Formats: sequence, structure tokens, C-alpha cells
Amino acid sequence: MPAKHSLNLSTPQGAVLSPFLWNTFLDTLLDTLSLKHTEATLIAWADNVLILLPFSTIKDDPLFDNILDICTIINEWSQANKATISAKKSHLVCFYRDKNPPNISLTSPLGYFEMELSLTFLGIEFDSQLLFASQLTSTAKNIKSLLFSLKYAARTALKIPSGAFITMFIGAVIPKVLYGITCWSHALNSTPNFTVISQALRLAATIATRTSVTTPSSILFPLAGLPPPKLLLDKEIALRSLTIFSQLSQSASYQLLTSSTPPATKIRNSLLQHNILLADVLGIHSNQLPAPTIPPDCKYFKVFMHFDNFKSVKPQDFVFFSDGSKTPLGTGSGVACFHGSDILQGNYSNPVTLQSFTLPISSPIYQAEATGALESTLIAASLITNPSPPSGFHTYLDNQAVLHSIHKALYSQHPTISHIGSFLHNTQVPFAFHWIPGHKGLQGNVIADLLANHGSSGLGKARPIPHSKDSLKSLLRQSLKQIWSSNWTRNLHKASPLTKLLFPSLNKVLSLADKASKYSLVLKLCAGQFPTNSYLFSIKQSPTPYCSHCPSKIDNIDHLLFHCPSYDHLRTDLIGTFSPPDGSPLTLSHIIHGKGDLKILNLFLIHVWKTIHSH
Ligand SMILES: [Zn+2]
Repeated sequence: MPAKHSLNLSTPQGAVLSPFLWNTFLDTLLDTLSLKHTEATLIAWADNVLILLPFSTIKDDPLFDNILDICTIINEWSQANKATISAKKSHLVCFYRDKNPPNISLTSPLGYFEMELSLTFLGIEFDSQLLFASQLTSTAKNIKSLLFSLKYAARTALKIPSGAFITMFIGAVIPKVLYGITCWSHALNSTPNFTVISQALRLAATIATRTSVTTPSSILFPLAGLPPPKLLLDKEIALRSLTIFSQLSQSASYQLLTSSTPPATKIRNSLLQHNILLADVLGIHSNQLPAPTIPPDCKYFKVFMHFDNFKSVKPQDFVFFSDGSKTPLGTGSGVACFHGSDILQGNYSNPVTLQSFTLPISSPIYQAEATGALESTLIAASLITNPSPPSGFHTYLDNQAVLHSIHKALYSQHPTISHIGSFLHNTQVPFAFHWIPGHKGLQGNVIADLLANHGSSGLGKARPIPHSKDSLKSLLRQSLKQIWSSNWTRNLHKASPLTKLLFPSLNKVLSLADKASKYSLVLKLCAGQFPTNSYLFSIKQSPTPYCSHCPSKIDNIDHLLFHCPSYDHLRTDLIGTFSPPDGSPLTLSHIIHGKGDLKILNLFLIHVWKTIHSH
């Protein structure tokens, strides 16, 4: 759609020119600051610059002077660039573990600064002690207010049904509100903080299911299709941290993930809960290696697309043959390693090592070939540590596509190939990959082929394939569903007989959650809020818990569904239309799990509802 927008100052958001101008504009400031203040960490984002200065209260710390000098530099830069710095929009916050942070105030060329107790940066409120209590409160408030305004808009203006509304709420709104959760996730370890968020989520579930606030959480959340708060928050923490780690370097991720700080511990636990290990997270980095620094003429690493008949092999080298195999039974890789001197003499009877690997059955042949090549580099790495290091390595393989990828390994998006790249990047021993004609009876290739077949028949060492960020995310979602589902089954013995009958598995509850608006009375029944006299009596809305038709019987759900004679005709009518095909007597379980699913039950309840309200 063509659109016009007139612009007088600056550049529009998203324009190609904007980041370029921003860089040239801000670079001088950032350069000067980082040169003169090596102790400072600078973070520049849109029109914000965050300057972090470490300080100590024990030593004679030059903090005060440093702040003053930084203000002077910024002031000079702003005058030179006609950029106005507003002292009102600049903040000075001291992050300090103790309850009483040192009090600093100063008059600088930028204006007068008094120390503040918190800083809102990128929508997250960092309090001076990093307890994040107010961040959590405002997050909970946001969830609530967004919930109400969206609910209103969804119902009145957009005519979105309740079921679809909660799907949108969980899928789009919650992640948005929780986007900074990795920063403050550890604050959730304290009960009051967790309660604040979990109450807001409970409210969401209550609104979605249109049940009363007294519905027990164990049934309320599944009925809304919402995972219990602890699981939901853990999932969000894990999902978000995967995104962050995939954008950091491997070493930065390693540092972050192994540090003992409370946020790192929390993130680690959230990932662990879903069986995602440190190695998996570091594995995704192979996708995002830094720009290649290997010069194109790097003497340590070469790829040859033709067969050289071992002409470049020297006696002190090691020679590998690798291959991949895929059969209907499985996928495998093989590597054979020989001394260069043996290969030069055509002697294949004295291998250094022969190895077979079994890959997941679904792995493509390319993966199998690439894994073979990767394993050759891993064996090479173990040989480098020998007392007399080898003069060079050669890997011979018959797959041109893999060779092409290895040639550009450092640019590769493929985890296995870029893993090879990171090895080659670091090796100090010459490493050459060569093509070898496949299935031409060349002995090294034949041996590698046999080893790969051994692997594809399931007899090799298991080699799980490194995950990409997206595959880890989908594993995480699967794991969430599993944990949630087994929690449901484990706690089922505590549930009411009706819940047990209706929802033997979590999937049954979730399928009702999907059709919540269609079966609203079943939902009320499950939440224990169907207006039987015993329920109404419990909330002081009825003078008696007894049935209005059968004075000696308590009017509860069991009585209403199965026994009360005043609904006999209704039962016969409805059951008559849904008799089991084999002529066996009909039970409630038939009604619920049979052909009519929850439809019959809902119809029954509608009639009862009408009867109750006609009195
Ligand atoms: Zn009755």
C-alpha cells in the first residue's frame, strides 16, 4: 500500500539510513568515552546511552571524578554536535548490594545530579539493590490492565470469542509483558514476588473461563488452557534465554551460564527442568560464530575438490577416511584413521583408530557425511596433544556438497559444519580435506563405508545432533507439555470424581479449553460452580443444600446428573439419541467420551439450567 509521510527532522524508524547516521553521529562519543574510561561499560540503544562504572567502597575509589569527567566529555560532544542533553532525562543510579547505597550528588557541566533509587531501562525497572520487587509489581499490573482492556476490546469492538481471546493472550500478550523476565527471573524465587505474578495469571484464567474466583487453581489453569504459573514462567525464562544465548558469542554464553549469580542460576535451572543442558545451549552457537577471521590463504586449512592420490600426504601426517550411510534402518557415520607412512605404502592393516557412529534415524545423509568429517577433526584434536605432534592431517571423503560447505565452514549455518569450522579456526596443524571417488574400490573409502554401515545398523557410538535454537525451543515446548501432563495425572487422585471421569488426561481438559465458549456450562460444572442448591448454599445464595424435588437428598452434581427423578425424562431423551452402538447400557462415561463428546452433557446442563431459572 503506498503511503506518504512528511518528515522534517531526523530519519524515520526502520529506514536504511537511520542506523548508519546513528552510528556516525554517536561513534565519536562512544570512542572518546571508551578510550578515556576503560573501566566503563558502554551500552548504546536508540537514543539511550547507558554507562556502567564499577566502584568499590573499600578503596579510595575515583568514582566521583570519573562521573564528572564523563559528564564533561558528553557535554563537549553535545555542544560540538548541536545535540541537547537534557539533565532531566539523565539519571544517576548506584547499584549496591547493601541496604544503604552511598549517597552521591554532584554538579556537572550537564547539570545537577542527585542519586536515584531505580533506573528504567528498556522497559525494565532496575532497583538499586536489584531485588526487582517493583518490576514484578508493575508486570503484574500490566498483565491485569492489559487483560481488562483487551477483553473489553475483544468482546465489544472485535467480537473475538473467549477461547480465541485467551489463545491470543497466552501467545502474544504474556510473552510481551514478560519479555525482560531473564533479568528479574531470580526475583521470582521469593514467594511474595511469585504470588504477585501468579495472581495476575489466575485472574487471566478466571476471565477466560468465566468461572468464579473460588475455582481451585489445579482445575482453573488447565480449563483456561494456561499452564500453571510456575511452569509458564519457567518456560518463558528458558525460551527467552535461548534467544539471548543464540545472539551472544559462545564464550559469553559459557561465562553467563556457568556463573554463580542468582539470574544465571535461575536460568540454568529453568533450562535444566526441560532437560536442556549447557552443551545444548553452547551447541546453538555453532550457528552464530563471529565473522570469519581465517585469511583465504590460511596455510593451516585447505579443501581440495579433486582426488590427489595421496600425493600431498607426508609420512608424519595422519590420514582419515570418513563416510556416511543412510538405510531404512538407520543413519550412521564412519571414520578410519591411518598413519601417513602406511597410506604411502598402501598398507591399510594398521589403523590408528576405526570408529562407527549411530545418528538419529531421521538424520539426512548430508548430516551423516558431515558428522563423519566432524569426527575426523575431533580425533585429530586428540592426536595434537601427543608428545610428538603430527605434521599434518588429511580427511578424504566422497561427498562434494559437504566439501563445499567445509570450504566455507565459518560462514555456515549448519551446526555440524560450523563446528568443523571452529576446529579449523583454532588448529595450529595443517589440515586438508580432499575429495575421494566413492564406491570405486579405493580401500580407505571402502573401510569408511563399512564403518558407516555399521553405524547405520545401530551398532555405532550414539551421536546426537547439535540442536539449533529453534529445535531447542520446540523441545522445550514439548517438555512443558509433558511435565504439565504428568503433573495432571499425578494429582488426579485429589480431584473430584467428576473431574476424574471427565478428564483422565490433560489433553481432555485442553480440548475443552479450546471449545470453552461452546461448552460454558460444562466448564462451570468442572469448576464446581454449577448452581446446584449445595453450591448456592455454600456461597449463601440458597437457604438449603437439599434438592427442591427430593427433600431428603443433597442437591449436588452427582444427584443432578444421575439420580434426581425430576430429570428422568431429560436423561432418557438425551441418552436415547446417543445409545452406544453395541446396545450396552449407557453410562456417563459413554456420554462424555463417546460420540456425543461433551455436547450431550452440555445440552443436559442447558435444560437443567433453564429448569432452575424458570422457578
Ligand atoms: Zn432431586
